[in-house]
Amino acid sequence: MMKVMKFGGTSVGKPERMQQVAELITATKQPKLVVLSALSGTTNTLVNISHALAHAQKQEAAQIITNLYTHYCQFIQELLPEPVYQEMGKKIVDEHFDFLQIILRISFSEALNKDILAQGELLSTKLFSVYLQSRSITHQLLPALEFMVIDANEEPDLAGIRSRLLPILAGHPDCPIFITQGYICRNVRGEVDNLKRGGSDYTASLVAAAVNAEVCEIWTDIDGMHNNDPRIVNKTRAIEFLSFEEAAELAYFGAKILHPTCIWPTQQENVPVKLLNTMQPEAKGTTIVAAVEESGPKAVAAKDGIYAIKIKSSRMLLAYGFLRKVFEVFEKYKTSIDMITTSEVAVSVTIDNTAHLDAIVKELTPFGQVEVMDQQSIIAIVGNQLATTPNILSTILQGLQPLPVTMVSFGGSEHNVSLLLPTQYRTQALQLLNTHVFGL
Ligand code: ASP
Ligand code: MG
Repeated sequence: MMKVMKFGGTSVGKPERMQQVAELITATKQPKLVVLSALSGTTNTLVNISHALAHAQKQEAAQIITNLYTHYCQFIQELLPEPVYQEMGKKIVDEHFDFLQIILRISFSEALNKDILAQGELLSTKLFSVYLQSRSITHQLLPALEFMVIDANEEPDLAGIRSRLLPILAGHPDCPIFITQGYICRNVRGEVDNLKRGGSDYTASLVAAAVNAEVCEIWTDIDGMHNNDPRIVNKTRAIEFLSFEEAAELAYFGAKILHPTCIWPTQQENVPVKLLNTMQPEAKGTTIVAAVEESGPKAVAAKDGIYAIKIKSSRMLLAYGFLRKVFEVFEKYKTSIDMITTSEVAVSVTIDNTAHLDAIVKELTPFGQVEVMDQQSIIAIVGNQLATTPNILSTILQGLQPLPVTMVSFGGSEHNVSLLLPTQYRTQALQLLNTHVFGL
């Protein structure tokens, strides 16, 4: 059975890190499909190039391209010291930067933007492949653009990916290591496209589901998911086991380690996901599986940039159909709601996409008095069977007692208790919960 291993930007961002990735993928004999991100910083730089071109700033774009080129030339000098392989690496780098020179001369379009953004993963995988050659490590480089496809709604087409990928793999029955690009794909028009920023995790999850992998390993630079945000709170601990539901909630509510949309393919095919640390490969990391035994709270995460909208109406009293009308306004503006609380005469919802906020407020006004609160944060406590965990709600609220909690959502899911408070209290809330709920 195959194993999928995905390495993020920092895991391939320095020549010595890339060399370490080679160690990790050759440590066992099991066949592997390795998904690589672009070198850290590259996709951001490509975004900047596109941005400059979209604003007709060719000079700026040319300067950014030159700096990036210098970075890659240095990278291959260190990665591939032997002249033959360095020459091969240089050819690849030149080929992709020739393309970036050409785009300076043609008119900018959305399709071109996607082509530009694809260069990072194409470069990282091709250079890694040369490095493996230089070490005589048998492998195949699989172009993701031949099998990663998205549908007309820009959603990954898992069946389409499977039907393309399996024959390609079958064509190399004895190959121990396949390398492919994360993030990039083709759309229904056959153009180069991508799975949105951070999408390499999604690629890994999709290919793992497509080949029914034994495990999907996501290698990053921390030792798994933590019970709290290590950038904000001093003492945190790695979580050993999570269910797919818990992981999805945590990823959505701000745990940066995993891309929120990427859980469903592995969940659907029941492929376990492991979050592992390139810097500390022997650490246990976090294993995400279908069902976990222990119940209770596992982690807390915060999501900033939330707006709360409250609609107060005495007409809501005993009325039916009121909520439907309210929700239809959000649906019309393709704005998804995160939290909801209702009372007999009011309903409060939260959103994080304010693109249509003014229009939404305008359309809600006929229903009642509308109030908007900005700069709010959702604090989500995630775990297993939370609704039936004794005293969980009182423990949480006691912990947060000094803070002005504005909304509480409990019982909607077995895996989540969400609270809303002004962002200025977010750090304090995470710290208090760390002490009161997790005893840290
Ligand atoms: N390179 C892409 C990005 O930075 C995809 C990824 O790394 O996951 O967004
Ligand atoms: Mg990432």
